[in-house]
Amino acid sequence: MTTQNVTKAAALRSSSLRSTSCSELVPKVRSRRDAGPQNLTRREFLTTSCMALSGAATGLGAQRLLAEESPKPTGVPNIDPGYIGPQFFDEREEEALLDVLESRSPFRFWGKGKPSKVLRFEENFAKYMGARFGLGVTSGTAALDCAVAGLGIGPGDEVIVPAYTWWSDYTCVVHAGALPVFADIDRTFNLDPRDFERKITPRTKAVIAVHLLGGPCDMDPIMETARKRGVAVLEDCAQCVGGSYRGKILGSIGDVGIYSFQVNKMITAGEGGALVTSDPVIYERAARFHHMGLIHGVFLDRSGPSRVQTFAGENFRMSEFTGAVLGAQLSKLDTMLAQLRRNAEAIYDGIKTIAGIRLRHRPDPQGDIGYGVYFEMKDKAVRNRCIRELRKRKVPASTLTGSVLLPVQESVINKRTRHRNWPSFNSPEGKKIKYGADSAAQTLGIFDRFVQVRVGAKYTLRINDYIIEAIRQVYNSLAKVS
Ligand SMILES: *Cc1c(COP(=O)(O)O)cnc(C)c1O
Repeated sequence: MTTQNVTKAAALRSSSLRSTSCSELVPKVRSRRDAGPQNLTRREFLTTSCMALSGAATGLGAQRLLAEESPKPTGVPNIDPGYIGPQFFDEREEEALLDVLESRSPFRFWGKGKPSKVLRFEENFAKYMGARFGLGVTSGTAALDCAVAGLGIGPGDEVIVPAYTWWSDYTCVVHAGALPVFADIDRTFNLDPRDFERKITPRTKAVIAVHLLGGPCDMDPIMETARKRGVAVLEDCAQCVGGSYRGKILGSIGDVGIYSFQVNKMITAGEGGALVTSDPVIYERAARFHHMGLIHGVFLDRSGPSRVQTFAGENFRMSEFTGAVLGAQLSKLDTMLAQLRRNAEAIYDGIKTIAGIRLRHRPDPQGDIGYGVYFEMKDKAVRNRCIRELRKRKVPASTLTGSVLLPVQESVINKRTRHRNWPSFNSPEGKKIKYGADSAAQTLGIFDRFVQVRVGAKYTLRINDYIIEAIRQVYNSLAKVS
């Protein structure tokens, strides 16, 4: 939006505000922003508030620093990938939020301003992901609970979960009273299709295919096995929003897909989540679960006459403020993806020629969203030295991040739930199952050997080249000693 448009919109808004009866809140906000003590412009306000929120080194502060092409005296550029979504906050989010404030309709189902932020976001999001129906919820964790309810999973059922992923993929199964069965990851960092097949029993109702760290699962063999064995597929796209596999957008390949809009994912409103599916029954069950078990007309308008009776649900409804920000963020997802992918592919291109280097296996590199670049070292000790050396050079290197080695967590090993008679671990299979290091040897080995280097959307060519050179030097020096 141009400055002129913004000013015009602001002028229109102030006049419409004057005509409303109780306009105290908004003018107060407006006057603080437009002519506050520091006389900040809207742009400056956004920039400073982003810096304050995310620390001066991330967000727009980092964006500005990263955009500097002139080398610093030390020759080391400022490399901080930051949180992706907030780096793209601008007038579009601001305008959308003001719409909600000024219409005084922050609740999605009613309000005098005919609220439509969540409604529109759901429609546009489902369309983007290539699914018939979308549902906005409060978090990715809530979306998983809705998806599990949508699939009709409960006590007596088993769900196959990758051994390395976020807690919510485990808790959603336990909350449903079902039994989580872990399968190893492979060098994609995602479900090993062969171990998935090995873990299927007559009780297996679903598998959670988690697209971790920006990279898609190898979905063809997973779907083939799942269809052959009658196992439902839940795609967890929380860490791969907008990613794809062989031309299909992630989330619409399996039976149901979920996403997170927490700050460290892709598009963000700080918190938030969504579910997509093309199955009207899964959709109605999920929509009911997120709204006390009741069904609102807006969902039946999409999926047709009700097919499911009322049951006990939860409240995971998305607010209009969240819907407003996410609508604006979604319009920038293509730009975020293009920038991240350009930088990630440049770095991968630069390091793939290093003699002997073993990169993360990517079943479809074009579908990767470019969250990071990944390579394998000989063992954990060399891997740790590699990370230390890269960090000395200010390269954002680490172990794999953002997930948990679930089978070795104390609460998992001890099968602790909120009540001792919880059905998950009181079935014969639940009593028998053993978690722990032995059940996830392949996963633990992969975790121990890989180095992660984060990629930022705002990296310059100079930063990409700097990272390539640093990895080349460190990798070669460590290859010699080991
Ligand atoms: C973040 C995340 C979730 C949960 O999302 P929240 O919005 O934080 O509840 C689920 N699965 C994966 C793989 C995640 O990374």
